[in-house]
Amino acid sequence: MNYSYDDQNIFARILRGEIPNRTVLETRHALAFHDINPQAPVHVLVIPRGPWVTLDHFIRDAGADAQLGFWAAVSQVCELLELDDGVRFIANSRDHAHQEVPHFHLHILAGRPLGPMLAR
Ligand code: 5GP
Repeated sequence: MNYSYDDQNIFARILRGEIPNRTVLETRHALAFHDINPQAPVHVLVIPRGPWVTLDHFIRDAGADAQLGFWAAVSQVCELLELDDGVRFIANSRDHAHQEVPHFHLHILAGRPLGPMLAR
């Protein structure tokens, strides 16, 4: 895969503080914030601070420190949000998955029964 990062994408701009967000958690490695168009009562996005386009890009090229830091932030968000009744993690990647923002982000969806994984 050839990944090319567009540093004008909306999440890069959020990370630079150019666009406001409703922050859930901020760490050295990651930012978690509420999705602007929530699909469930809980809909939080967690993003790493580095220039990674998709989850597979992040796994392939981010260093161990960045990866551990990112997943530690995901864990902290789950603790904060008390997701005992269940949670869905989604990482849309590229066109067929309808990825809109080309900066790796993990959706955390919860707060109601979420139905089947995919619409048929
Ligand atoms: P994707 O389709 O790329 O997996 O998801 C992108 C998500 O980013 C969508 O759920 C969309 O609502 C959210 N989003 C797009 N622009 C903004 C924004 O400016 N602020 C926030 N908080 N979320 C955004």
